[in-house]
Amino acid sequence: MKPENYKAYIVREIEKGKFLGSVETIPGDTLPESDLLIKVAYSSLNYKDALSASGNRGVTRRYPHVPGIDACGEIIVSRVENFSHGDKVIAACFDMGMNHPGGFAEYISVPAEWVATLPEGMSLKESMMFGTAGFTAGRCVDYLIKQNVKPGDGEILVTGITGGVGSVAAAILIKLGYEVAGVSGKPDHPLLKIIGVEKTIKRESFVTGKQKMLLKERWAGVVDTVGGQYLETAIKQTKYDGVVTACGNAGGGDLNLSVYPFILRGVKLIGVDSAQCGGPLRDAIWAKLAGEWKINCLEDLVQMITLDKLDTAIHAMLAGRAGGRKVIQINKTI
Ligand code: NDP
Repeated sequence: MKPENYKAYIVREIEKGKFLGSVETIPGDTLPESDLLIKVAYSSLNYKDALSASGNRGVTRRYPHVPGIDACGEIIVSRVENFSHGDKVIAACFDMGMNHPGGFAEYISVPAEWVATLPEGMSLKESMMFGTAGFTAGRCVDYLIKQNVKPGDGEILVTGITGGVGSVAAAILIKLGYEVAGVSGKPDHPLLKIIGVEKTIKRESFVTGKQKMLLKERWAGVVDTVGGQYLETAIKQTKYDGVVTACGNAGGGDLNLSVYPFILRGVKLIGVDSAQCGGPLRDAIWAKLAGEWKINCLEDLVQMITLDKLDTAIHAMLAGRAGGRKVIQINKTI
């Protein structure tokens, strides 16, 4: 049964094109009818949430809306056989928090396909320390490994390295023995030391030589979270047979390139999407994050906040000032 009322961070269009988010107590019947009613323990803040909260119609079409593409917690009501009352689960991906009320709330009601069982070796809190950003970092690392990029082949470049995806990707790669170099607008950020990144290139000095079709070969692999001219430069600098994974657009959505990195150096460009990643692949990535990819510095990458601090965190993220991950504690009793 749905709660009578519940707390949520809800975004309203207060006048045309102007959006405001605040914590409200709203009626339980605003929760959609679906397979699973979940009491949310934690959520986490992702870039897509910041876009949704600021009225980006490419992410969220209709307002008022509760963002939050991530949540974890305990099942209160299950209408499907494969989940039961009391199961601890992670809900993410698909339309969660985009056009379906999301995880910035005490309760969510979602289809069973959007939900993964919390893997052994991972707490609910840890699952949101990773969240979709960490999951996406895991997908990028998984692609590099499957494409046979090995520690010792050369440096792996991570762009937007102090961000959620970048910091987790760098930490996993370093744990696995890869040498990591980062591109950052905050090259002195304390997180970089915590993760163990030894080489950081300042954003502005990275994107030079824009007019050239190829640049000096530097990287065996790339995790790009920024897109635009950063992705262009990274591809032009990738070594023969190297692999570039592209998951983000924090720095732009365009890509101006010639075919030469691909046809002269055999560079492989792999697009990474987590939103539609469900089923066994999703479970396998979560299991790796709970096991062989579990990073010791995870706690240090994370700042814990509550729903009422979300607005400030969202603005910092949109301004590129955020570093690491933000986990939102919602129900203390789970
Ligand atoms: P964050 O905001 O945590 O990190 C992004 C980082 O990119 C910032 O910390 C900053 O790092 C850098 N950055 C921000 N703005 C700019 C800019 N204008 N120019 C250059 N660099 C910039 O976001 P996330 O890590 O959570 O997400 C990163 C990207 O990945 C986003 O575009 C997001 O939408 C995408 N994403 C995609 C997914 C998918 O399924 N494809 C899933 C999850 C995320 P620094 O200061 O170190 O340079």
